[in-house]
Amino acid sequence: MPPSSTRSLSPVWHPYSHLKTQRQMPRVIGGEGPRFILESGETLLDATCSWWCMIHGYAHPRLVRAIQQQAGELCHVMLGGLTHEPADRLARELVRVTPEGLNHVFFSDSGSVGMEVAMKMAVQYHQLSGRPGKHRLLSLMKAYHGDTAGCMAVCDPEEGMHSLFAGYLPQHHFAPAPTAPFDAEPEAVTTDLAALRQMLERHHHEIAALLMEPLLQAAGGLNMTSPHYLLGARRLCDEFNVLLVFDEVATGFGRTGRLFAADHAGITPDIMVLSKGLTGGYLGHAATLATDQVHDAFIGDTPDHAFMHGPTFMGNPLACRVALESLAVFEEEDYLGKIAALNRVLREELVADEVLAAHPAVADVRTLGATAVIETHTAADLAGVADWAREQGVWLRPIGRWLYTMPAYITTETDLRRITEVMKGWFRRPGPRG
Ligand SMILES: *Cc1c(COP(=O)(O)O)cnc(C)c1O
Repeated sequence: MPPSSTRSLSPVWHPYSHLKTQRQMPRVIGGEGPRFILESGETLLDATCSWWCMIHGYAHPRLVRAIQQQAGELCHVMLGGLTHEPADRLARELVRVTPEGLNHVFFSDSGSVGMEVAMKMAVQYHQLSGRPGKHRLLSLMKAYHGDTAGCMAVCDPEEGMHSLFAGYLPQHHFAPAPTAPFDAEPEAVTTDLAALRQMLERHHHEIAALLMEPLLQAAGGLNMTSPHYLLGARRLCDEFNVLLVFDEVATGFGRTGRLFAADHAGITPDIMVLSKGLTGGYLGHAATLATDQVHDAFIGDTPDHAFMHGPTFMGNPLACRVALESLAVFEEEDYLGKIAALNRVLREELVADEVLAAHPAVADVRTLGATAVIETHTAADLAGVADWAREQGVWLRPIGRWLYTMPAYITTETDLRRITEVMKGWFRRPGPRG
């Protein structure tokens, strides 16, 4: 018999939580702007914008209206053998805003599935091009690409939350995570690129694609790197006939300060995956974009030329319609300007704070676009921070030893200073850690 405290909990099985020690989850009843409201009456300023997707905040009137209007017209229809205007318009808009040359869009329902689609597409591309031996992938240490089996196999094999499943997963190759920071000089990425080259020289005959979260390895510890690394990776992939897949599920739609991380380097990956911010977080959806070169390999006469993937909810009209509205708001309301303003506050309040940098628990403080992280030496340095922040009215949820914020872009400077104040306050609070 489970302890009564466990039995009294809701049947909802929560993610990543330890069932023996989990407590009653706070119940959210609504939200507005960067805040959500709990049943208890508490209002919390969301420093994470709900796993980085609610980029416009909660209850944005234009996004809510777009869903309501679309719901009155068409909630869902299969994309197998049929099409509809929201899917067609969104595909055109994504082709317009993404790097030049990504001309084809395959929809699916989540970031993980969008990555599964990218990986299958890469393997089948080589198969159809007469290179069936290229059926493995090259990923990076510290990578996180999702929780489905195919994605788990390309997450960091030791730290990536999935080491338990090692025996169940296909085996791929891993290169070291990049170490040069965002503002590194071109020469500073030489070592990182040499490590990539070494893996490609050794294994290129069996590698279909190199996968990466460009510039910002998010869930694996907010590891940031330089656009020069992306440029070098692009050149290496061309040299070794390996597709370059950018997982922009987290970085897409402004998180790094440009619309896409690829824009910092001015390059086009062969395949790019978008999700989280795609719908402004209002509905689950994803898009896997491909170049003509990838797409055209699927034009042919054999049954093998069809791409055998088709999630039930791909191209869902509600999701497409709210994604179109999200993109319109993003462009009309100068979100890149808002993100630049948020970055100035994050630099001033966190990166430039010498007292914070000198704190014995703090290993590093860094920022990129609308993202900032205080990295500590051990996860124990952050034990209790979420509860403590909640008492100050801020929703923070550290990942391991990384205390980070990825706020909604509509967060005001005053609210962002409140978030950074609470992040810094943890290290200044009286108590055992001083
Ligand atoms: C969140 C995330 C995913 C997985 O997306 P889901 O929608 O949770 O399946 C994949 N890649 C990256 C980089 C992510 O941050």
